[in-house]
Amino acid sequence: MSAAAVLLMTARRSRALDTPPPAKKLGVALLGLGSYSTHELGPALRMTEHCRLTGVVTGSRAKGEKWAREYGFPEKNVFGYDTIGQIAGNPDIDFIYVVTPNGLHAEHCIAAAKTGKHIICEKPMANSVADCDAIIAACRQAGVRLTVGYRLHYEPHHAELARLAREKVFGPFMRMDGGNGFEMGPGATAKNTWRLNKELAGGGPLMDMGVYVVQAVCMAKVEAPPVAVTAKFDPVTRPEVFSEVEESVRWTMEYADGAKAACHATYAESVSRFRAEADGGWAQLEDPAFYYDEPMLTTSRGKVHLPKVNHQVAQLDGMALELLSGRPSIAPGEMGRRDMAIVEAIYAAAKSGKRVEVRA
Ligand code: NDP
Repeated sequence: MSAAAVLLMTARRSRALDTPPPAKKLGVALLGLGSYSTHELGPALRMTEHCRLTGVVTGSRAKGEKWAREYGFPEKNVFGYDTIGQIAGNPDIDFIYVVTPNGLHAEHCIAAAKTGKHIICEKPMANSVADCDAIIAACRQAGVRLTVGYRLHYEPHHAELARLAREKVFGPFMRMDGGNGFEMGPGATAKNTWRLNKELAGGGPLMDMGVYVVQAVCMAKVEAPPVAVTAKFDPVTRPEVFSEVEESVRWTMEYADGAKAACHATYAESVSRFRAEADGGWAQLEDPAFYYDEPMLTTSRGKVHLPKVNHQVAQLDGMALELLSGRPSIAPGEMGRRDMAIVEAIYAAAKSGKRVEVRA
């Protein structure tokens, strides 16, 4: 070996000794390898700094093994829904991320919590407040952290809206207006599309798209739940598609300080917007306010320029850093439960035609 090579090796070794080892990347196992896992969360986990994909839970062993090859984790970390318990004690996995249809979140989160791993549950947290309570209780009993996949809390434009609200930059937001939805494609039915199936989805666009509007209103009110809601279902225009769940719903959220939010969730048209007004100014998330693109935030002072981030990378790294630093999460299970209490009140108001108090 030449002297130069020896010098280079020594320099490398001493640099390796001087430099602290890179912080541990936390291991995430995705539970449910459908569209959101395949197109967003999996790819995001290739880009995250503080966590990486180290396992999957799936109904298809062949699909899981393909993921193991593509993402470079061992095939022993492919689990089935009936073998979730085997994840206990697996040193590669820190988080289990539940990404199955809404109606299965409670069953899957509870089974996952029993392994002693931390839980991320996709939105909406479950089909009912009772199921949210069961998930929270299971996570408490297991001593694990529970967060909800509320990616927008980690997105700079939405975080800026939250700051404007928190710091009352324009005064408290008093008048809010938001909508979110897309047009459900032709041929979709309750039998072939779980989002239209009451048992698996828990409801229609309110459970899916409406939760974003509920979240935005709560953000603009510094995470306070409303005191009451009123609501009305829009007429169903395609009964063959919407046989089990609503096609569109409109609702109003009322606050103790007199603030009101007019909201809309729909599977009949493409919409994604939110505006909040205070006596001293306003803030508006331009359409598309809630999609994966960079949202545009405009206020009465002009356009707000903030960095563009990949929402899922920001959320996953944000949640990993919260855990590594021991900080409480900004999207905890209790927030998912609060939103479900609001959603249940909206459904009760739409069905009864009455104003319903929210017990969040
Ligand atoms: P998909 O239908 O595309 O995937 C769901 C996956 O769950 C399936 O591929 C399957 O995975 C698994 N699964 C287990 N049991 C069932 C069952 N009985 N019926 C259907 N699927 C089952 O749904 P998405 O990925 O679009 O949505 C999953 C969750 O993620 C939902 O709660 C949704 O609200 C949420 N979501 C959140 C988004 C966000 O921006 N935060 C965006 C999109 C969705 P496998 O084959 O591996 O068993």
